[in-house]
Amino acid sequence: MARDYYEVLGVSRSADQDELKRAYRRLARKYHPDVNKEPGAEDQFKEINRAYEVLSDAQTRANYDRFGEAGVSGAAGGPGFSDFGDMGGFADIFETFFGGGFGGVGGSQRTARRPGPTRGEDLRYDLKLEFREAVFGGEKEIRLTHSETCGTCNGAGAKPGTRPVTCSTCNGVGQVRRSTRTPFGSFTQLSVCPTCNGTGQMIEERCETCGGQGQTQVNKKLKITIPAGVDTGTRLRVSNEGDAGQRNGPPGDLYVYLFVQPDPEFQRDGNNILTTLKISYLQAILGCRIPVNTVDGEEELTIPPGTQPNTVLTLEDKGVPRLGNPVARGDHLITVEIEIPTKTNAEERELLEKLAKMRGDRIGKGGLENFLGGLFGG
Ligand SMILES: [Zn+2]
Ligand SMILES: [Zn+2]
Repeated sequence: MARDYYEVLGVSRSADQDELKRAYRRLARKYHPDVNKEPGAEDQFKEINRAYEVLSDAQTRANYDRFGEAGVSGAAGGPGFSDFGDMGGFADIFETFFGGGFGGVGGSQRTARRPGPTRGEDLRYDLKLEFREAVFGGEKEIRLTHSETCGTCNGAGAKPGTRPVTCSTCNGVGQVRRSTRTPFGSFTQLSVCPTCNGTGQMIEERCETCGGQGQTQVNKKLKITIPAGVDTGTRLRVSNEGDAGQRNGPPGDLYVYLFVQPDPEFQRDGNNILTTLKISYLQAILGCRIPVNTVDGEEELTIPPGTQPNTVLTLEDKGVPRLGNPVARGDHLITVEIEIPTKTNAEERELLEKLAKMRGDRIGKGGLENFLGGLFGG
């Protein structure tokens, strides 16, 4: 069952927007998959985002308060990790992390200034990789939807052959003065012109392709080159594949977040690959050569005579290529487990007893025989 969203964010039911935002930022920073690699952190991060997504919107919060999860399921796309790109919330965290430089969040801090070119939004895409794809890299095809500058009007939003005209409400200034009369006097406030949204221009005849937006949503395929040696938490930047910019601003970038699926056989520790190998006690004592699986295929491993339990044997350069320098590779480390048989047949037992006698090891027969022998002095 989903946890209570207020509990998830650690705030009271009466928390205001500021409190919610502070709690969210603090937790998102703590559990963001880029900084927190602990197991479960990613799920926590998703839960935090989902909680904030629901509670930060007055409408969905009210629904949640009245009906619980049932009142908001389906709202804003559900708990999918991949929806962050267009949530705004994500760009927010990004700013906190990387000290700004993330375009496209300007919308939240619109001033009364006439807006100039704005860089398009950066987008996020979450990509799952198989273990070996991460080790050796390769090409992946993804499908994404982003906005592109409308080709018909070149982003102007006006029907071809027509031009935007000066806004009649603000005379092209982009802002209007509003006077408010109060018992204490009258106040004048500058605000963004509601007619032209601050651009100072109006479109009389809209472009039919984009409906005057200057941009269209495009669903496209993209080939992503995955370098060898990536891991969960690696972020690839694909330049200019974010959303289109406004008013001739450059497009944003696409950030591809990689998530590597666990492998049933191989574990990864940085650039080293870890596996375990079970051998018999005889193989441990006598030594042997044994085939083991590596990411490059089968390799012969030499077990020296007298190998102890939990010994770690190394196959050099059979690990993960270093990101950015794939010639250098980590090692494949094999932990040796030694199996002691739980049952021996009569013949084996005879041989082992002989061996024990030879070494002068004290051994007992079956527990019950020993017990009875002790009782009756046999
Ligand atoms: Zn257009
Ligand atoms: Zn105007």
